[in-house]
Amino acid sequence: MSAVPSTTRQCVEQLQSNSLTGTDLAAHFAEQISTNDSRIGAFLHFDADRVRESAAEADETESPLAGIPVAIKDNICDVDSFTSCASRMLQQYHSPYDATVIRKLKAAGAVLLGKTNMDEFAMGSSTENSALGRTNNPWNLECVPGGSSGGSAAAVAAGLAPVALGSDTGGSIRQPAAFCGVVGMKPTYGRVSRYGLVAFASSLDQIGPFSRDVYGAAALLQVISGYDPLDSTSLDEPVPDYLATLDRPLDNLKLGVVEDWFGEGVDESVKQAVTASVDVYRKLGAEIVPIHLPHSQYCVATYYIIAPSEASSNLSRYDGIHYGHRAESYGNLQELYANSRTEGFGPEVKRRIMLGCYALSSGYYDAYYLKALKVRRLIQKDYQDAFEKVDMLIGPVTPGPAFRRGEFVDDPLQMYMADMFTIGANLSGIPALSIPCGFTSDGLPLGTQLIGPKLGEEKLLRAARMFEQEHSWHDAQPSL
Ligand code: GLN
Repeated sequence: MSAVPSTTRQCVEQLQSNSLTGTDLAAHFAEQISTNDSRIGAFLHFDADRVRESAAEADETESPLAGIPVAIKDNICDVDSFTSCASRMLQQYHSPYDATVIRKLKAAGAVLLGKTNMDEFAMGSSTENSALGRTNNPWNLECVPGGSSGGSAAAVAAGLAPVALGSDTGGSIRQPAAFCGVVGMKPTYGRVSRYGLVAFASSLDQIGPFSRDVYGAAALLQVISGYDPLDSTSLDEPVPDYLATLDRPLDNLKLGVVEDWFGEGVDESVKQAVTASVDVYRKLGAEIVPIHLPHSQYCVATYYIIAPSEASSNLSRYDGIHYGHRAESYGNLQELYANSRTEGFGPEVKRRIMLGCYALSSGYYDAYYLKALKVRRLIQKDYQDAFEKVDMLIGPVTPGPAFRRGEFVDDPLQMYMADMFTIGANLSGIPALSIPCGFTSDGLPLGTQLIGPKLGEEKLLRAARMFEQEHSWHDAQPSL
């Protein structure tokens, strides 16, 4: 077997030219997982035999993704594995059906490597809320990988998988991508079917790709996108050929810099790296336009009413009878519910359920939930106005680089503030991605965010590719 290349594009090219087989690739990544994952903790479930078998089958399949190993966040249902959501509540849960994205990946001959760690039920920004294990940032094992899709981001950054799937409700793909120095994309709401994604906040959740290179993100998005009658929120719109146009630079690109996102509380290293990214686009001929999103200061407050409200409803099904862990000791039905939920859910999930129930309760509904919906509308309007003037927006993904484990665990509000630049795209249902744009002086990766109008994925990927060709950050690998 020739040396396994580091980017997804090279993997695909070598598979297509037959200098590598899917079996070779799977053996390589299985070996990386066995050697290095004890220090990273990216995977919750990894079954080497199953990987070997599906790689052998993939060698018989024709598709751009055939033979490419993919890591999957553990809130996406796969009949061949557990779907725990990193919760004691679903620790033993075996889904009887495949999520649509899993069905599509299997049909495309992708090799599913296993399930990755996450914040419990995708609630968190550091993967520290996992009930089932700890994930370390491959660039500094004392730091968090971000969250909630921290396992998927860390797996790709550490070279344990070329690409991975995550879910993004308020930033859970883009923030860990930035913290781990990989590409991560949240597609337009409805672009990718959520059938088989365990619901957190249904008006916000989207599945999306991680990859070292933009090509891998585009290839994965290509396979998972499209209308699905099983998801009533999925969009019945044609899926462009993302790979066919990827290398075509955008002419006359008008790029809006979100001026409001470079103020107080944003780390100097982030400001500098994102400003340098803007300069790269300027040099490439883009017109740079300052943009204001006047309501973006309300994003965190709005999201932390809407997301917990939806979560409190979605999570009511885990009662020890319909779904989930059942307490062994109880005297009556009420106690069965109470004990099962007390034992099954971790502290952050309980906090969200309580916040949501409070915001939805009679007497508070108008003051909190309804008000949040109105502000959501104003936030959406800010983005609509911006896209009248520019093709896409650029700004930071997060206020700072990856933080140390434990730094914010006792301060949920500070943890929530880490989402302030990512939430707007979820509240507005528009696509956004994070691309690596440099490192801090301590060697931690930094990300730049590009945000596009509804169904603007193709242009976002092309813009990201233009940027990627100007630097070599995506070639940097952590030493493990
Ligand atoms: N960090 C945010 C939260 O805790 C976003 C989570 C997500 O996107 N799944 O809710």
